[in-house]
Amino acid sequence: MTRETIEQKLYTLKFKADQESHLVVKDMQKCLECGDKWGRPCEAFCPANVYEWQVDSQELAVRFEGCVECGSCRIACPEYNIAWRYPKGGFGVTHRLG
Ligand code: SF4
Ligand code: SF4
Repeated sequence: MTRETIEQKLYTLKFKADQESHLVVKDMQKCLECGDKWGRPCEAFCPANVYEWQVDSQELAVRFEGCVECGSCRIACPEYNIAWRYPKGGFGVTHRLG
C-alpha cells in the first residue's frame, strides 16, 4: 500500500478564495516575540503552510487562500493570537473527489 503525501492529498481539494481573509493575526508584535519564545509553531502545525514568517518585513504572512479549515490554529497558537472563523458562505475549500 502506498501512502499519499500531504501535497497529494491537498491536490484533491479546490479553493474559492474570498477577497477578505477569514484568518486574522491579532497582534503582530506577539508573532515577533514568538520566534524566541515559542519558535513560531504555526509554521509547522498548519498542514497547508498558510503561515510563514517574513524576515525582511518582520511580519507573519497569512496565505489564507490555501486554508483547509482544519481549525488547528484556533487552539495551537500558544498566544491565542489568531482570530479564526469559517470563510463566508460560498468561499473556502471543497473536495474534488468523493
Ligand atoms: S504561533 Fe501564534 S503568536 Fe506565534 S507566530 Fe504564529 S500566530 Fe504568531
Ligand atoms: S485552519 Fe488549519 S489549514 Fe487553516 S490556517 Fe489554520 S491550521 Fe492552517
